[in-house]
Amino acid sequence: MKVVKFGGSSLADGPHFEKIIKIITADPERKIIVTSAPGKRDKNDYKITDLLIEYANRTLAHQDLSAIQEQIWQRYAAIGNYFSVPSEKMTRLKQILLDLPKKEYQIDDYLLATFKAHGEILNAHLLTQILQKLNLNAHFAGSGELGIEVTDNPQAAMILPDTYDKLAQYHLPAGYLIVPGFYGLTKQKQIATFSRGGSDITGAVLARGFHADVYENFTDVDAIYAANPAIVAHPRAINKMTYREMRELSYAGFSVFHDEAILPAIAANIPINVKNTNHPRLKGTMIVPAKDFQPANVITGVATATHFSALYLHRYLLNKEVGFTLKLLQIFYKYHISYEHMPSGIDDLTVIFDNRQFTAGVREKMCQEIRTELQPDSLEWIDDYAIIMVVGEGMRNKVGVMAKIIEPLAAQNIGVHMINQGASRISIMLGTKRKDAPAAVRQIYNNFFIQKAK
Ligand code: ASP
Repeated sequence: MKVVKFGGSSLADGPHFEKIIKIITADPERKIIVTSAPGKRDKNDYKITDLLIEYANRTLAHQDLSAIQEQIWQRYAAIGNYFSVPSEKMTRLKQILLDLPKKEYQIDDYLLATFKAHGEILNAHLLTQILQKLNLNAHFAGSGELGIEVTDNPQAAMILPDTYDKLAQYHLPAGYLIVPGFYGLTKQKQIATFSRGGSDITGAVLARGFHADVYENFTDVDAIYAANPAIVAHPRAINKMTYREMRELSYAGFSVFHDEAILPAIAANIPINVKNTNHPRLKGTMIVPAKDFQPANVITGVATATHFSALYLHRYLLNKEVGFTLKLLQIFYKYHISYEHMPSGIDDLTVIFDNRQFTAGVREKMCQEIRTELQPDSLEWIDDYAIIMVVGEGMRNKVGVMAKIIEPLAAQNIGVHMINQGASRISIMLGTKRKDAPAAVRQIYNNFFIQKAK
């Protein structure tokens, strides 16, 4: 049995619904279908999730709601019309959308989460109606019915392990099970969503809970590529990769698949197949356990992410000083700041942060406290920091990989501020200035893939 998840662009309008229905019905193994909210139809369009956030904000600000309600509803109405879904069924769906502001919410954050989740809830209802209209047996099941339980973080919930016990007890009905992605219920029965793009997580959780043979993830690209096509022209497609490679690459900006969605698949050893709704015959990319993978290349992919900053601390005899790092970590803890990496030398230490977590003034206060408490000889804050992640199971037992990464950068005068090799030895992380990151990715990609082909 396969769990199949469709992304927002695959469910953006009637013609796309037609494509996904062909996909679902082409393979009898495709039984559990997870929906996203309708995405953009073209690059100037809006995602329904973003419109729902606007709807929630206007509700909280007690503004007039009719225009935004109508804008959201028209997207669903157009899809319903395309399939001539009976008007009484559509009226019932519209009522769900209009009733959102009238419900009770524990706090505003749960209101926001509930509005957001309805992008997928309405879409799953709509798909169920359409399949029934086509005389196919389909059943809608939300998180309440299935027992998808999550932590109390309204916008960035994590799945609770009880979910898997509940799914084990759930009796799968005959026909298709249509499940809205992106959210679960807290113990207090409030809707909480995963972080953005989180419908992938729902699909992975169901694949694990229902022991699927494969988790198919349909999106709008033919495959996952070895580098970002916006940086490298026509990069090669990755046919097969491991879970670990995917995690490392998605951490550094490969956004095709949500990085948290890999964990349930890993726990149950379920292969993930990323495929294109518009070209479903193509094989796409398989993401598999390491035991099922024989690397054909030294590296599988190279990625970059630019939302980082770095703190550089220098102090002589740092290596002999007891408690220096402990005090530093206590300061981070006090300001609720998590760090990503901390490479160190004998007299210095660099700490790399995700800079999206800093609210106004926190960075300055934190640095001031570090100066006073730790008295470093020098403290430097680098704001325009990028990391480059070079990933490949094939580099584990290969000599000379580091040279092959660094040489083309040196040739182009690209400075490398940090090098960090993960303990698993399947990834090497470099730190560069943000402006150098795209050129660095191109150089590394060319040296491993283009030079080799010549
Ligand atoms: N609709 C949600 C978002 O835009 C979740 C998803 O598409 O996976 O983030």
